[in-house]
Amino acid sequence: MATLEQHLSRYFHYDSFREGQKEIISDILSGQDVLGILPTGTGKSICYQLPALIQEGATIVVSPLISLMVDQVKQLKQKGIKRVVAINSFLDSNQKQKVLQHLHEYTLIYCSPEMLQNDRFMEALRKRINVSLFVVDEAHCISQWGHEFRTDYLKLGEAAKKLGNPTMLALSATAPLAIQDDILTQLERPQMAKHIYPMDRENIALAVSHVNSMEEKIERMKTILKERPVPTMIYFSSRQWTEKATFELRDALPHLRVAFYHGGMEHTDRLLIQQQFMNDQLDVICCTSAFGMGVNKDNIRLVIHAHLPPQVESFLQEIGRAGRDGKQSVSLTFYSPGDGDLPRSLISSELPEPHQLSQLRHYLVNLKQSHQPIPSSAEVEATLQLSEIQWRFLNYQLEQKDVIHGGFVRSEEPQLDSALHEIMQTIEHRALYKHEKLSEFIRWVHGDTCRRVTLYESFQSSLKEPLEFCCDICDFSFDKWHPDILQGNHEVPQWEEALKRVFLQGDRL
Ligand SMILES: [Zn+2]
Repeated sequence: MATLEQHLSRYFHYDSFREGQKEIISDILSGQDVLGILPTGTGKSICYQLPALIQEGATIVVSPLISLMVDQVKQLKQKGIKRVVAINSFLDSNQKQKVLQHLHEYTLIYCSPEMLQNDRFMEALRKRINVSLFVVDEAHCISQWGHEFRTDYLKLGEAAKKLGNPTMLALSATAPLAIQDDILTQLERPQMAKHIYPMDRENIALAVSHVNSMEEKIERMKTILKERPVPTMIYFSSRQWTEKATFELRDALPHLRVAFYHGGMEHTDRLLIQQQFMNDQLDVICCTSAFGMGVNKDNIRLVIHAHLPPQVESFLQEIGRAGRDGKQSVSLTFYSPGDGDLPRSLISSELPEPHQLSQLRHYLVNLKQSHQPIPSSAEVEATLQLSEIQWRFLNYQLEQKDVIHGGFVRSEEPQLDSALHEIMQTIEHRALYKHEKLSEFIRWVHGDTCRRVTLYESFQSSLKEPLEFCCDICDFSFDKWHPDILQGNHEVPQWEEALKRVFLQGDRL
């Protein structure tokens, strides 16, 4: 019988496993559920791709982003692994139909958590394949997004049950203890074996810069990038600022190729920008947090936060994209007075307010009395002036409490009132939690002791020795840093040509 190393060499052409991979794979192959926390860039996907290739049955991989799935499928196909498919909204109904009919031909099936709520898809899975491994990639999304934005993340445990309770693997690069517990709870697998590896990165120096305004931040960026033009990601919390900063940086630094990326752009544009950045056809990206997951680029030298991330976990994920090649890289966070206000108001606007709940009560009572079904989400949102996220959250909560069932209001007024009361408590609890997470980060920005120690203390007890620099408090300053800089004037590819390339790279199934 071939050893795991032989399989690894056969399929992926590596001689040995990286830290954690073999332990996780061995557990999975013996039928043990696993929670794996491995730092970014350590080859997490091998942990399920290898078992998928050597085990009987199919592996389902739940992935949060289409671009992430498309990318993984493309990479596997380039390695000669063909029995993989990503089922997503890119497929038209004909293609979808065809894939569903041939599901049994695939060993690795990527899909979104939303897809697992699709009856036709689930039916096809149950009828045509035997699922031996159920993987939740980027499992922190369960905790980070599941409670408000993407509630289908909270139904993954249920979906796995419907698929015959296969072995489960949850993977993430950043999950402190509380989030690890939440993942186990939500997936309904309390006995998961935990394989947790330290997430501090010895090659990322941490720096914080206190300034007075956004204008000053952009001036500083110009200076830094002028002296040290390196592949850079700059995170903003607002879409407008990603665009504004891009135009300013382009004006000031004509030799650099700068672009913006945010969730308000067309899907094809976003895909194009991501591909260009990954192929070194762009130098600097001004982006919101929508960018980054699945960005496979190992030479990012500098990650700048122009606005505060809402929590330490997002920050760690974002800076973790720097220096995957192991070379010295830098995380720079800007802070100016009042910077906490924007994330604070974002937190508040995500969750419904008390007056919206009393309007909702009135609305549901009317629907119940007139025996009418719940209208479309768009209609409910317009009538009650709720954002998409707010209604998704409320709808999920109401379904969980059986107030809404089968598209109708089921509860009488007393049950409805107690359900709404509980929902209000959940909202308060979530808001408090999120404000605390933000305060934790703001405290870090204002800290005066080693940033590395304070950043990782809630995640792990010991730290690696820094490669060259630790942080701006210990030893780092920009004038000491001499990275390889980007050379020359590059020709920016034409849009049509670039688009053609994106689509000819084998994304099609
Ligand atoms: Zn330090």
